[in-house]
Amino acid sequence: MAARLLIGGEWVEGEGGATFPVVSPFDGREIAAVAKGSREDARRAVDAAREAFDRGPWPRLSPKSRSEVLLKAARLLQERSAEIAELESRNQGKTIKQAADADLPFCIDNLAFYAGAARTLDARSPGEFTGEGTTFFRREPVGVVATITPWNYPIMMAIWKVAPALAVGNTVILKPASWTPLTSLELGRLFLDAGLPPGAFNVVTGPGDVVGDELTRHPKVDMVALTGDTATGRTIMAAASATVKRVQLELGGKAPFVVFEDADVAAAVEGAMVGGFVNGGQDCTAATRLLLHTSVRDRFLKHLLERVRTIRMGDPLSRSTDLGPLVHRSHQKKVIDWVERGVKDGAKLETGGGAGTGPLAAGAFVAPTVLSSVAPDMAIAQKEVFGPVLDVLTFTTFDEAIDIANGVEYGLAASVWTRDVRTALRAAHALRFGDVWVNDHLPLGSETPHGGMKQSGFGKDLGTDSLADYTVLKNIYVDLTGQARKGWHYTVYGDPA
Ligand code: NAD
Repeated sequence: MAARLLIGGEWVEGEGGATFPVVSPFDGREIAAVAKGSREDARRAVDAAREAFDRGPWPRLSPKSRSEVLLKAARLLQERSAEIAELESRNQGKTIKQAADADLPFCIDNLAFYAGAARTLDARSPGEFTGEGTTFFRREPVGVVATITPWNYPIMMAIWKVAPALAVGNTVILKPASWTPLTSLELGRLFLDAGLPPGAFNVVTGPGDVVGDELTRHPKVDMVALTGDTATGRTIMAAASATVKRVQLELGGKAPFVVFEDADVAAAVEGAMVGGFVNGGQDCTAATRLLLHTSVRDRFLKHLLERVRTIRMGDPLSRSTDLGPLVHRSHQKKVIDWVERGVKDGAKLETGGGAGTGPLAAGAFVAPTVLSSVAPDMAIAQKEVFGPVLDVLTFTTFDEAIDIANGVEYGLAASVWTRDVRTALRAAHALRFGDVWVNDHLPLGSETPHGGMKQSGFGKDLGTDSLADYTVLKNIYVDLTGQARKGWHYTVYGDPA
């Protein structure tokens, strides 16, 4: 089934039966062949989703009925979570302990949350604002939503968009990243088994600049929601402008991790370890810029390097592995090139920087890496590397810390480490990032709106705020006077009565 597309409730071949291989990042072996969707396949999916939205039952079901389907999908995901976690780990390279104990439980909770949230949709209360009629507001689904997802958290990023979009009655086409399509196809199976009507959810695998581009330009698609690179966000925004589509963008990040002089250094080092190396650093909120007060810098760095040397790199399916391979050989090369560029620009390589050796040489491994003496304007401190690479920078004053932290094009996530509540709140207010953590880095709940500022995009994943992204507000006016000629009509023609 992997080599099929889900269109209109059926598993169908791509045009001409074309496929592409999906490879294991651990050993480079092919693990599946997946349908290589074409523009025509994307158009077929759009037609199915359009029909399902315009005439199908899904948008017309009661919130309770939609909620029941999402809840069933959450239960089915729970039942199959071990198997899907393993598939995610094999395909993406993330460790099994992260996939099974963090990603999948969160995905199940996200689905269950949106099953509940489906029933909370309301609008502001109506009123007689003109004095002669009642205006009331309805929140309606946007229509056909194309969701385009990245390879770092394949099933989770899909659920963060698909679940709220479906909850409020949209129909959806999912285009997963080509390196990691397997769990998105399983999501299609789960929704079918949960009783989602045909065409309400479609999955089209294939190249971004073909399938993704067609979905973005197609006039029958009402909205495109992307999680991906900032450059892809720019391309999609431009392409969507021809049909004035609504766009929701969750893009790149370069999170600052600001350690003030009064911070609990041991706690901050633990925070940097998990914040920096989660998912092999392939995380848009990853703590990549460690901004250390000069007074704690040496102590922090020494302790950090001790901890980094304990990271166990290996087979992602082993429970004792902390760091699996990166998603793909070509991404591995990109990350290693970034480290070399950083060193060339004057950073000092404290540890790591290279590929796996011995039995790990066949995998897309990059050893956990720490660069010190990084200056804020170096490319390595400005651009997203998306690997297990931590940059160490320093500051002396509060204002300098904030200026360096804010001095990137991104605005997704940040954290501050201090024991002083005033410093914490002043920093949290001053940082231009959508998520700011104090004395921790990473925690999100299904309830917490997550999304960026600046070139990290706009709109929210998670929380009930994301329901606003997938709905439009309509106002409906009902005349209460019953008069043929209303008092104000003379302002258009004739005289006052
Ligand atoms: P990417 O931008 O390369 O790809 C994302 C998706 O866009 C893929 O499905 C791809 O096929 C598709 N795509 C590519 N070109 C397209 C085009 N011209 N038209 C339509 N679709 C196109 O991103 P990636 O490398 O898969 O993922 C990593 C990126 O995702 C990082 O930048 C990361 O920061 C970001 N990300 C952001 C968040 C967030 O919440 N803001 C979360 C996770 C990942």
